[in-house]
Amino acid sequence: MELLIQNLSKTYANGVKALDNVTLSIPQGMYGLLGQNGAGKSTLMRTIATLQDADSGSATLGDIDVLKNRDAVRQRLGYLPQDFGVYPRISAVDMLDHLALLKGVTNSGERKRLVDAMLNKVNLFEHRKKALASYSGGMRQRFGIAQALIGNPQLLIVDEPTAGLDPGERNRFYNLLAEVGEKVIVILSTHIVEDVLELCSKMAIIHKGRVLYEGGPEAAVESLEGRIYSRKIAKADLPQFEAEYKVISNKMVAGRPLIHVYSDTPLDAEFIPASPSLEDVFFAKIGGLN
Ligand code: ADP
Repeated sequence: MELLIQNLSKTYANGVKALDNVTLSIPQGMYGLLGQNGAGKSTLMRTIATLQDADSGSATLGDIDVLKNRDAVRQRLGYLPQDFGVYPRISAVDMLDHLALLKGVTNSGERKRLVDAMLNKVNLFEHRKKALASYSGGMRQRFGIAQALIGNPQLLIVDEPTAGLDPGERNRFYNLLAEVGEKVIVILSTHIVEDVLELCSKMAIIHKGRVLYEGGPEAAVESLEGRIYSRKIAKADLPQFEAEYKVISNKMVAGRPLIHVYSDTPLDAEFIPASPSLEDVFFAKIGGLN
């Protein structure tokens, strides 16, 4: 099973072109869709999740036309939206039971087995009777995966799932997604480079509605080999460096900016050749440099 997106475009009524001829091929496994806020990720995710229309283009999931055959997609889809709502007074077990019923699992014994299996999978079984409102951010996101997995989806879409999680919660969430990603297509939409690096064997970088890269994270990093330099500078000199060099990022390290510079030709010895990272790839691509 593969999700193929071809020449998908969408312009909102206010004139914003959120998707500009997007073409992607998304195989089984974890697929990272990396882009800054406003890049068009949610628009793409909502379109694939059959929640909104595109202006033109096509998408197929296996032999299903995603844009025309919405019911068939919905039967195969699990979706964790960015603004996943919570239901304050309802416990996790009651909520999942309710959702399973909506998905057509009418036999109560079967439903209990399914719900318990989901709760175990996302490691919330011991907290199943607590109100969702009392859950931590990480627990809510894991609950979000449990609800998305009800109905055994072949395509799972998770939109910005790790924002706001502390490092421990993020790791637990990564482990869960990695396990799920062994069997289905998982699209992980994120602005966090680390999410993609840790989890995804294939990725795309999207910027202003356009796909700037699609492929493996490693190949992307290799393509920058020998072209990234770092240098610690004085804060006041930053504008000058930005004018003279292709500065792709600057980070404060012990109170001083550490800049990363892209260059096709060797720079003088003040600059230290750096091993490229996926973050360098991201900034170089969206800066139009590589
Ligand atoms: P991302 O998920 O990558 O942050 P979005 O798909 O939410 O990006 O947004 C892409 C662009 O489309 C942004 O410029 C955003 O402001 C705009 N946009 C998103 N939704 C709407 C809408 N319903 N109406 C008008 N503009 C929108």
